[in-house]
Amino acid sequence: MKCRKCGGSAALELRRHNAAFCSPHFLEFFQKQVREAIRHHRMFPPGTPILVAVSGGKDSLALWDVLLGEGYETAGLYLDLGISEYSVESKAKCEAFAAARGQKLIVERVVDAVGAPIPVVQQVTRRPTCSGCGLSKRYLMNRAALQHGYPVVATGHNLDDEAATLFGSVMHWQTDALPRQSPALASTHPKLVRRVKPLYRLSELETAAYAFLRGIDYIVEECPFAQGATSIAHKETLNRLEETSPGSKHNFLFGFLERARPAFERVEDVALQECTSCGQVTTGAVCAFCKMADLVKRRTS
Ligand code: SF4
Ligand SMILES: [Zn+2]
Ligand SMILES: [Zn+2]
Repeated sequence: MKCRKCGGSAALELRRHNAAFCSPHFLEFFQKQVREAIRHHRMFPPGTPILVAVSGGKDSLALWDVLLGEGYETAGLYLDLGISEYSVESKAKCEAFAAARGQKLIVERVVDAVGAPIPVVQQVTRRPTCSGCGLSKRYLMNRAALQHGYPVVATGHNLDDEAATLFGSVMHWQTDALPRQSPALASTHPKLVRRVKPLYRLSELETAAYAFLRGIDYIVEECPFAQGATSIAHKETLNRLEETSPGSKHNFLFGFLERARPAFERVEDVALQECTSCGQVTTGAVCAFCKMADLVKRRTS
C-alpha cells in the first residue's frame, strides 16, 4: 500500500476515501478535514477563544491538539461526573495533557452543581443514567462557557457518533431531534453559546490513529455506563454496514446534512426565557437541570 500523496509506504488505509497515507500525510489529511469542517459550517472566525470540552478520551484530546496546532486560543473544560475510577483516570489524562502544553483546564464537578455524582442521580431520579448525565453536561458546558467568556464550545463528536445519533433519531422518527443534529448549533439567545463539532468529518478509527501518531495519552476505557447505551448498538449496526459497503456512514450523515436536514428545519415557535432559579435559558419557568438538581437534593438530604 502506497501513500496517496508521496508514494511512500502507507501507515493507514482509508477505505471510504479509497486512499492510503503515510503517517505525516495522514496527520495533514486529518488537520485539513478539521479546517474544512470549521470553514464549511462557519464554526468560528480566527481569533475566537474556544472552550474545548474534554473527556480524557481520544476524540476530545485529538480535537484540542488540532486546534492548538492551528493556533487557536483555547481552554479545556473537564466535567467531573463522579463515576468512580473512570472519572479519576479521565481527569488525570486531561490534566496531564493541559499541563504538558501549558494550557488552562477548567474543571466543573457534577456533585457541586447537582448535589450528587451521576450514579446517585440515576438512583434517585430513576431516569436513564445517560439522560441525567447528558442534561448535566449540556447545562454545565454552557454555564462554564458563559462564566469564563468563551462564545463557543467545541466537542469531540466524530463521524461515528453523529451517524449513530442520526440513526437513532431516524429509527424512532424523532423529528424534533433532526433539525438539532448539526455540526454547528447557532446561539439563539445571548445566554446560549454556540456548540460545534469540528471532528464530524472524521471516523473513530481516524481519531484513534491521529491520537496514537501524535503520542496523545488518552483513557482507553469507555464510561462504564456506555455499555448498555443504545448508541453503542447503533454504532455496531453501522459498522457492519460499513464493512460491506465502505462509505455508508459518511453517505448517511452527509446526505442528511446536505439534502434532508433542511426539510426538517422549521421556525421554532417556542420563546426562550431565563430560568427563574439559575438564570440559564429554558422554555419553561424553571429549567430541566434545576428541576433535576432540586429533586436530587430533596431525595438525598
Ligand atoms: S456513557 Fe457515561 S459519560 Fe456518556 S452520557 Fe452515559 S453516563 Fe454520561
Ligand atoms: Zn506520504
Ligand atoms: Zn435553572
